[in-house]
Amino acid sequence: MLSRIKGLSKSENFPFFLHFLGVFTGIFLVMTVIILQVMSFGIYTTVDSNLRTAQKDISSYVTLAMIKNSFNAITDNNKTTADDQSKLIPPSEVIANTDVILYSSDGNILNTLDTLSGLEYVKLDKKNLDSIVKVSLTNILGETLEYRTLTVPVKNVIYPEVAYAMIAINTNQLEEANDRYTKMIVIVMITFWVVSVGASVYLAKWSRRPILANYEKQKAFVENASHELRTPLAVLQNRLETLFRKPNSSIMDNTENIASSLDEVRNMKLLTTNLLNLARRDDGIKPDLETLSSDFFNDIFTNYQMIAEEQGKLFKVNNQVKHQVVSDRTLLKQLMTILFDNAMKYTDKNDEIVFEVKSTDKHFYLSVADQGIGISSEDKKHIFDRFYRVDKARTRQQGGFGLGLALAKQIVDSLKGTITVQDNEPKGTIFIVKF
Ligand code: ADP
Repeated sequence: MLSRIKGLSKSENFPFFLHFLGVFTGIFLVMTVIILQVMSFGIYTTVDSNLRTAQKDISSYVTLAMIKNSFNAITDNNKTTADDQSKLIPPSEVIANTDVILYSSDGNILNTLDTLSGLEYVKLDKKNLDSIVKVSLTNILGETLEYRTLTVPVKNVIYPEVAYAMIAINTNQLEEANDRYTKMIVIVMITFWVVSVGASVYLAKWSRRPILANYEKQKAFVENASHELRTPLAVLQNRLETLFRKPNSSIMDNTENIASSLDEVRNMKLLTTNLLNLARRDDGIKPDLETLSSDFFNDIFTNYQMIAEEQGKLFKVNNQVKHQVVSDRTLLKQLMTILFDNAMKYTDKNDEIVFEVKSTDKHFYLSVADQGIGISSEDKKHIFDRFYRVDKARTRQQGGFGLGLALAKQIVDSLKGTITVQDNEPKGTIFIVKF
């Protein structure tokens, strides 16, 4: 992992890595602080509520402590029999780990206390009556003992000498458990933080992948575009140089040169328009939706019919639009024209082209079937890519740049539709669009 991180520090992924690691570190730090805070606040809640419960019942605690005291005094003097002992054994403290220290009004301790508890050294603190105080003590064995204490004034008719009582609950176990949990939480958080270093390396690479892919795409696009522009420019240069070399010849003598130059200029104009369209729409096309009727399609088909006739191709229309279609007029027309143009370009004379439009309650379908040269399965995977042409020589001759279907796909995507390509029977291609 270290070597991977070293390698990463020199790569372009490094700022991304640092970003992710920073976020993870922040999350883990905040989580650790919150958990530890919640734990430290919660640790004494039960103890403190036990102290308050004991405070309500303080006279029983005083009685219990005094009985225990007298019992100790008797057993110390060996004056009891086994029977007496069973009668006098005071019940153990109501709440575990609870000790009670009884003070006279001048602060003397009235009951005997376990020497190991260290409580015999606790002075009466009249300033903090009724409030819970944390006390740290050292017993005769030198052990540190932690207590939560609550001192309250006492009025007991049976034991009038008792003026104050301090209830003390030992919290050593609680604190030890708390320390253990704190260590555990810190270890778990550090482990996850280490895992997050690996996760950051992965995420840094993963998040840059689409950026890199896009960058590669853009690069290829610019390269392709420049390449496409170079050919017409070279032709133009060549033709103009030829004209330049014959300053005395007339326009009539150079019609071929001029016509060819104009052709290339037209080509370049078309190419730059297409490129501009693609580039502008890369930011996302915002369709201008409106309701279109069956006539909208009929008008377009009339034009197509004329073009097909001019080129000696059979053009059939099947307009099944019964419902109103909600779409962008310009985009839809452009899409239809791209598919129609392609069908015309890649079919021979007398071949048939069938253009079908159909609407249902929810969908609108459009299909263009031709009996042309068809597209191989391998090429079908790429024809929607920018500048992809199956047969470069042939398509260029026909004025194609491999941008038509990329534009078509862009339009279909913007209208939230799908475009697919299939083989036609017995030959040719069918493009199917579904919105
Ligand atoms: P172009 O402008 O070069 O036609 P397109 O993006 O429209 O570019 O099409 C990409 C390629 O797909 C074309 O070069 C062509 O080889 C192939 N193609 C598109 N439509 C058809 C079709 N109807 N029949 C056969 N091949 C097609």
